Amino acid sequence: MNLKDYIASIPDYPKEGVIFRDISPLMGDGDAYREATKQIVDYAKEKQIDMIVGPEARGFIIGCPVAYELGVGFAPARKKGKLPRETIEVDYGLEYGEATLTLHKDAIKPGQRVLICDDLLATGGTIAATIELIEKLGGVVAGCAFLVELTDLNGREKIKGYDILTLMDF
Ligand code: IMP
Repeated sequence: MNLKDYIASIPDYPKEGVIFRDISPLMGDGDAYREATKQIVDYAKEKQIDMIVGPEARGFIIGCPVAYELGVGFAPARKKGKLPRETIEVDYGLEYGEATLTLHKDAIKPGQRVLICDDLLATGGTIAATIELIEKLGGVVAGCAFLVELTDLNGREKIKGYDILTLMDF
């Protein structure tokens, strides 16, 4: 199975000149979704993960089945104002704007080995902010897993020194 066959490419979305890579065909196919999840689970097993963190919203789609398979917990990293209890926050730049990402203060225990899961690595702004949140709470970022990497945007440069798994390059 070639997972790339399950990524749709939409030109000029959400703005002109951008090619949006849409993972929904992959999620919509049971075999492809399971295969992508399995590849991330295998990686997570090597890294001896205690906890998964996924940034809103597609990080939930990738991270939750991995957490379920591993039998570990999942913590959502959400946009400011969405989490109901005490949070920590980090401001960051996006490919298409600015945002603040938050985590519940008790989401990660100091020393826990965390895997971050998201659909796509673009400029690296989201993952860098997620790493900062986890480290503020004393977590150890043991790995970062994505379905798709947009290599032209050099997101890897922003998170040099961290271990990264990407299943597909565009
Ligand atoms: P970054 O912060 O620039 O690395 O952008 C990554 C974040 O933006 C991820 O959470 C993605 O869900 C989203 N994103 C950016 N570009 C795309 C795209 O082409 N397709 C799907 N999601 C994207």
